Formats: sequence, C-alpha cells, structure tokens
Amino acid sequence: TGSGAALASPASFDVLARTVAGRRLIYLDSAATTLRPRPVVDAVCRYYTTNGANIHRGKHLLSEEASDQYERVRIQTAEFVGARSEEIVFVRNTTEALNMVAAGLDLNADDLVLGSLDAHHSNLLPWRVRSRLRLIPVRPDGGLDLAEFERALAEGPRVVALTACSNVTGVYSPLDGLIRLAKQAGAIVVVDAAQSLPHRREIFRAAGADFVAFSGHKMCGPTGVGVLCGRMSALERLRPVMLGGGTVDWVDTQGHRIRKVPHRFEYGTPDIAAVIGFGAALSYLDELGEREIREHDTVLANALLAECARRDTVRVIGPAPDGDHAGVVSMELPGFARLDEVARALSDSFGVMCRSGHMCAQPLVDGLAGGQVLRMSTYIYNSVTDVEEAFHCLDKVLEAL
Ligand code: PMP
Repeated sequence: TGSGAALASPASFDVLARTVAGRRLIYLDSAATTLRPRPVVDAVCRYYTTNGANIHRGKHLLSEEASDQYERVRIQTAEFVGARSEEIVFVRNTTEALNMVAAGLDLNADDLVLGSLDAHHSNLLPWRVRSRLRLIPVRPDGGLDLAEFERALAEGPRVVALTACSNVTGVYSPLDGLIRLAKQAGAIVVVDAAQSLPHRREIFRAAGADFVAFSGHKMCGPTGVGVLCGRMSALERLRPVMLGGGTVDWVDTQGHRIRKVPHRFEYGTPDIAAVIGFGAALSYLDELGEREIREHDTVLANALLAECARRDTVRVIGPAPDGDHAGVVSMELPGFARLDEVARALSDSFGVMCRSGHMCAQPLVDGLAGGQVLRMSTYIYNSVTDVEEAFHCLDKVLEAL
C-alpha cells in the first residue's frame, strides 16, 4: 500500500470492470455502501442454488446445513470484533440495531441522552423521540468538543451515544477516552461503528462500550445484514421489542418464555443469504490483513486531503491534515450552489461515483457547511491514482459548469 496501489485486487470486484462514457469507473462512494468481491457474491449465490432452506426451524438436512453456516458466521463475527459469539445479534443494518437499543432501554421522556453533532440521523432520531437528547458540538476540525462533553457528563446522562467515525468528516473519535469517561459517569454507552469497523477493529469491549452497531454492507458484505454487538450483561437487560417466531422457546394460550440472548432479538426469518455472504466478506478482509486495511485507509485519507489542499476550488469540511481520519472527505465548492449537478457530471461524463447532499447528518452539514457537501469516500479496492484522477475530473467539471 505504500505505493498507493489498491489493497484488494480490483479484478475481484466485477463492478469495477464497467465503463461509463468510455472511461473506467471510479467508485468513491464506499461510505454509503461498499462493493462486494466475487467470493461474497458467490457465497450468496451458493446458498440460493444449493440450499435455500430456513434456519433453526427444521431438522432436515438442508435446514441443519443452513443453520450451521449461519451460526458459523456468528462465531466468525465474534472473532473479528473480539467478542463472544453469544454477544453477536444479527440485525438488518446499523439503523435497526440502534433503534432496537433505544426502544429496548425503555427510556423516560426526561432521561438525558448525550449524542454528538456529527451523528448520522440513525444515531440521533431513535434517541430524540424517546428522551431529552443533547448534541455535543463538534469543533471546526471535526473533533468532539471535549470540554462540553465532560460538562454534560456531570449532569448524569442515562445514555451516551457515540459516533466512532463521522460519515461526513471521516474524523475518528478518541473512543477509548470518551467511553471511559462515560462509563465513569454511570452512563450506558452505545457506539455507532458503521464507518469505523470497516477500517479499524477497535476492541470496544476493552474500553467497555455496552452496545456497538455496524452494517455488513459497508465492509464488503451484502445489504440486509448488520450487527448489534453487546456485552452479555447489557443484552440481558435490554427488552426485546420485536417478538414472534425465533424469539421464544415455549408458548401456550396464556404465556411464553423468551429465548436466551442473542436469539431473543432475532425475530422472524433473517436474511440468511446475506449473513452467509457476510461471513465470506469477513474471510476476505481477514486475508487482506487488519493492519494493512487500517494503513491503506490512512494512505487514501492523506491522498484525499492532499488533493484538496492543492486547490482553492474546494473547502474541506472537518479534518485537520494531521488529524486521525478515514478515507472520506466532504467538500464545499465555493461559488457552486448545485452540488448535485457536480456529482451528476462527475458520474455521467467521467465515470466517477461520489455523493452530494447532507449525507444523513443534516445538523452537522448545516452547521459546518451550509447544508450540502460533495463527498468522496474510499475503500480497499481504491488506489491513490483513483483519488488523483477523480480530482482531475472534478477540475474539468468545475471549469465546464
Ligand atoms: N451511521 C453511520 C455513521 C453511517 O455512515 C450510516 C450509513 N451511512 C449509518 C449509521 C446507517 O447505516 P445503515 O443504512 O446500514 O443502517
């Protein structure tokens, strides 16, 4: 990666063989969702072509085989994040995991919840509708205002909902310290790790977070599978809000007995194929290497910021060049009111896929950037050349518009 080449072979990602307007496609929207390598697509396909049965229901061969594969991915996920397999709950996505926690804690309307201004809407709305949510401000460099955080902790929040890495600024939170302070203040700590876990496998348990949420589709897995990872003691105190098949082990005309953790949270038929595909994604990432993925992220982050620094046509939202940030950059383009037109031209005329708008983090984008940004975000299949070419195309689009 030191050379700036892609870490994963782009040839494993069939989408990257597409051309747009006669040019090779450059995918810079991995913060929205990543592409999937062939082994992941094959694993999904193999489940549907060779099995297709439901899990945990039947005693026949196909069902037992599918259940086995599904449960093996639970073990694999636990190893990946450094948890016990009973602490891994498969859900649909980060949004569902955060809603399950917010609803299951049975908050009172006057409970104080501390969130942060850089929260994704998914780590903001589930709290706001159930509690007194206070958003800790973010400094212009994208970091949390620590003095304000400590002052707010003194008021005894019931929950602290942290964002491990902003999907707008790409700034990583100093999680260990924040979690330690929040735990000392007696709060339940919930971490949205949707943007950090694809690059960094922090051992959240060591720092003591109670719940961590992330999505498979942001780390080369299929859509339709996410993870709620909780400490066993925290999961045991969480009320399961969705009940039905899969969540109980006994029901009669008068009552029922809830299954043990994690099964009590996995209601109905899950996206079995997606979970199996997610297992293939974890294997793929393991083969690339934890340290290599982390370092490649930093190489691309620095390349993005370096390209921005060379231009007076863009203003970066957030990260200081020497800060701790992911390969995600959001920009304002002074003088350009229609960033969606810029994104559209980059896509249709140059084959560069990036994002415009508020990124589902409207309070932050309103606060730091006047409501809209152009975002480029990278992953293991991107090279420094991708970044350089994308900015070269951006120059041409801005000249033409
Ligand atoms: N949190 C963050 C930081 C995110 O970037 C995203 C996805 N953009 C989400 C939560 C929501 O993830 P999902 O759509 O998979 O629920």
